Amino acid sequence: MASGQCLCGAVRFSIAVEPRFFYRCHCSLCRKQTGVGHNLATLVHACDFRWEEGQHVISSWRKPSGYRNDFCSRCGSTVPNALRETHYFWIPLGLLDAELSMACVGDFCTDDAMSWDEQRSANSHHAAPDSLEFLQRELQVNHTR
Ligand SMILES: [Zn+2]
Ligand SMILES: [Zn+2]
Repeated sequence: MASGQCLCGAVRFSIAVEPRFFYRCHCSLCRKQTGVGHNLATLVHACDFRWEEGQHVISSWRKPSGYRNDFCSRCGSTVPNALRETHYFWIPLGLLDAELSMACVGDFCTDDAMSWDEQRSANSHHAAPDSLEFLQRELQVNHTR
Protein backbone atom coordinates (compact mmCIF):
# COMPACT_ATOMS: atom_id res chain seq x y z
CA MET A 1 0.00 0.00 0.00
CA ALA A 2 1.30 3.42 -0.94
CA SER A 3 -0.14 6.85 -1.56
CA GLY A 4 0.68 9.79 -3.74
CA GLN A 5 -0.39 13.34 -4.42
CA CYS A 6 0.30 16.28 -6.68
CA LEU A 7 2.25 19.38 -5.70
CA CYS A 8 -0.75 21.19 -4.18
CA GLY A 9 -2.40 18.08 -2.73
CA ALA A 10 -5.69 18.49 -4.63
CA VAL A 11 -5.16 15.21 -6.48
CA ARG A 12 -4.57 12.17 -4.29
CA PHE A 13 -4.42 8.47 -5.06
CA SER A 14 -3.47 5.22 -3.43
CA ILE A 15 -2.10 1.97 -4.75
CA ALA A 16 -2.59 -1.41 -3.12
CA VAL A 17 0.86 -2.60 -4.10
CA GLU A 18 4.37 -1.33 -3.55
CA PRO A 19 5.97 -1.26 -6.99
CA ARG A 20 9.48 -2.72 -7.00
CA PHE A 21 10.65 -1.49 -10.37
CA PHE A 22 10.53 1.63 -12.50
CA TYR A 23 11.85 2.85 -15.84
CA ARG A 24 13.19 6.06 -17.29
CA CYS A 25 12.23 7.52 -20.65
CA HIS A 26 14.51 10.08 -22.27
CA CYS A 27 12.33 10.96 -25.29
CA SER A 28 11.68 14.59 -26.21
CA LEU A 29 8.05 14.37 -25.02
CA CYS A 30 8.96 13.03 -21.60
CA ARG A 31 11.59 15.75 -21.37
CA LYS A 32 8.99 18.46 -21.95
CA GLN A 33 6.52 16.73 -19.68
CA THR A 34 8.90 16.78 -16.73
CA GLY A 35 11.04 19.80 -17.46
CA VAL A 36 14.15 17.69 -16.90
CA GLY A 37 16.07 15.03 -18.82
CA HIS A 38 13.75 12.05 -18.41
CA ASN A 39 10.71 10.85 -16.58
CA LEU A 40 10.67 8.06 -14.00
CA ALA A 41 7.57 5.95 -13.90
CA THR A 42 6.03 2.61 -13.14
CA LEU A 43 2.80 0.78 -13.90
CA VAL A 44 0.26 -0.74 -11.57
CA HIS A 45 -2.70 -2.93 -12.41
CA ALA A 46 -5.92 -0.91 -12.57
CA CYS A 47 -7.51 -2.96 -9.81
CA ASP A 48 -4.72 -1.86 -7.48
CA PHE A 49 -5.16 1.83 -8.21
CA ARG A 50 -7.64 4.16 -6.55
CA TRP A 51 -8.30 7.88 -6.83
CA GLU A 52 -8.76 9.31 -3.34
CA GLU A 53 -9.48 12.91 -4.23
CA GLY A 54 -9.43 15.54 -6.92
CA GLN A 55 -10.20 13.65 -10.11
CA HIS A 56 -12.34 16.63 -11.19
CA VAL A 57 -9.34 18.98 -11.28
CA ILE A 58 -7.36 16.75 -13.65
CA SER A 59 -6.82 18.10 -17.15
CA SER A 60 -5.58 15.99 -20.00
CA TRP A 61 -3.41 16.90 -22.95
CA ARG A 62 -3.11 14.40 -25.78
CA LYS A 63 -1.04 14.30 -28.90
CA PRO A 64 -2.66 12.67 -31.95
CA SER A 65 0.04 9.99 -31.74
CA GLY A 66 -1.37 8.96 -28.39
CA TYR A 67 1.11 10.53 -26.00
CA ARG A 68 -0.80 11.85 -23.05
CA ASN A 69 -0.07 14.08 -20.10
CA ASP A 70 -2.66 14.32 -17.36
CA PHE A 71 -2.01 17.06 -14.85
CA CYS A 72 -3.49 18.88 -11.91
CA SER A 73 -5.13 22.03 -13.25
CA ARG A 74 -4.32 23.85 -10.00
CA CYS A 75 -0.60 23.18 -9.64
CA GLY A 76 0.45 21.60 -12.94
CA SER A 77 1.88 18.37 -11.54
CA THR A 78 1.75 15.45 -13.90
CA VAL A 79 -0.57 12.87 -12.35
CA PRO A 80 -1.25 9.18 -13.04
CA ASN A 81 -3.32 8.20 -16.06
CA ALA A 82 -5.14 5.10 -17.16
CA LEU A 83 -3.24 3.68 -20.12
CA ARG A 84 -5.59 3.62 -23.07
CA GLU A 85 -7.49 0.39 -23.58
CA THR A 86 -5.42 -1.42 -21.02
CA HIS A 87 -5.76 -2.49 -17.42
CA TYR A 88 -2.85 -0.42 -16.21
CA PHE A 89 -2.25 2.93 -14.60
CA TRP A 90 0.89 4.85 -15.36
CA ILE A 91 2.41 6.34 -12.19
CA PRO A 92 5.00 9.14 -12.13
CA LEU A 93 7.32 8.21 -9.26
CA GLY A 94 7.81 11.68 -7.85
CA LEU A 95 4.20 11.79 -6.64
CA LEU A 96 4.62 8.88 -4.25
CA ASP A 97 4.66 9.99 -0.61
CA ALA A 98 6.76 7.26 0.95
CA GLU A 99 10.19 6.11 0.01
CA LEU A 100 9.86 2.71 -1.61
CA SER A 101 12.72 0.42 -2.37
CA MET A 102 12.75 0.30 -6.17
CA ALA A 103 15.19 -0.58 -8.90
CA CYS A 104 15.42 0.77 -12.43
CA VAL A 105 14.71 -1.91 -15.04
CA GLY A 106 15.58 0.15 -18.03
CA ASP A 107 16.19 3.39 -19.84
CA PHE A 108 14.22 4.01 -23.02
CA CYS A 109 14.69 6.31 -26.00
CA THR A 110 18.33 6.88 -25.11
CA ASP A 111 19.00 8.00 -28.71
CA ASP A 112 16.91 11.08 -27.92
CA ALA A 113 18.65 11.87 -24.64
CA MET A 114 20.40 15.19 -24.23
CA SER A 115 24.13 15.04 -23.55
CA TRP A 116 23.60 16.56 -20.11
CA ASP A 117 21.26 13.74 -19.17
CA GLU A 118 23.77 11.00 -18.48
CA GLN A 119 22.08 8.63 -16.06
CA ARG A 120 21.67 5.09 -17.47
CA SER A 121 20.85 1.71 -16.05
CA ALA A 122 22.55 -1.45 -17.26
CA ASN A 123 19.54 -2.04 -19.45
CA SER A 124 19.43 0.75 -22.00
CA HIS A 125 17.21 0.82 -25.06
CA HIS A 126 17.73 3.13 -28.03
CA ALA A 127 13.99 3.37 -28.65
CA ALA A 128 10.66 3.10 -26.84
CA PRO A 129 9.47 -0.20 -25.32
CA ASP A 130 8.32 -2.67 -28.00
CA SER A 131 4.97 -3.12 -26.33
CA LEU A 132 3.07 -2.64 -23.16
CA GLU A 133 3.47 -6.35 -22.47
CA PHE A 134 7.22 -5.94 -22.66
CA LEU A 135 7.11 -3.11 -20.15
CA GLN A 136 4.70 -4.95 -17.91
CA ARG A 137 7.03 -7.96 -17.89
CA GLU A 138 10.12 -5.86 -17.18
CA LEU A 139 8.37 -4.07 -14.33
CA GLN A 140 6.99 -7.35 -13.00
CA VAL A 141 3.59 -5.78 -12.41
CA ASN A 142 1.63 -8.01 -10.10
CA HIS A 143 -1.84 -7.47 -8.91
CA THR A 144 -3.29 -8.28 -5.54
CA ARG A 145 -6.99 -8.65 -6.16
ZN1 LIG B 1 -2.22 19.97 -7.63
ZN1 LIG C 1 9.17 9.22 -23.34
